[in-house]
Amino acid sequence: MSITKSELENLRDKSLSARDFSYSPYSKFRVGAVLLTESGEWIQGANVENASYGGAICAERVAITRAIMEGHKKFKAIGVASDLSVVCSPCGICRQFIREWSTDIPIYLFTKDGKYTMQTIKELLPLSFGPEHLDTEKVEAETETLLEV
Ligand SMILES: [Zn+2]
Repeated sequence: MSITKSELENLRDKSLSARDFSYSPYSKFRVGAVLLTESGEWIQGANVENASYGGAICAERVAITRAIMEGHKKFKAIGVASDLSVVCSPCGICRQFIREWSTDIPIYLFTKDGKYTMQTIKELLPLSFGPEHLDTEKVEAETETLLEV
């Protein structure tokens, strides 16, 4: 799935501006994310930390939970930005969280200067577990490709 140049520019700008909503007094590590829904909505998220540390949530999961609450489950793209001059890739929990909705959604990772790279969940989380694996027949079909020792 590809996005237009205009959508890419919006993805960059909205990922970067979402950092302004970050609540990160402990790490001082701001992250912003934005989802472009299939219907053309833009939904931002930012990381939210907590004094308990373990109660923190990443920008990507904030954006996704906001989207779900607003009735969106199909996405064209995700953008993620931090204050780093290198791209900030989603953590393992976020990769699994994104995987729930698609294996090929493009994830645009932006530097603080707006440079980017694009990866899919298929690339970031190979051999991932997803909702279809809860279907026993599908799991059995996939194991037919396994080799015996
Ligand atoms: Zn994360």
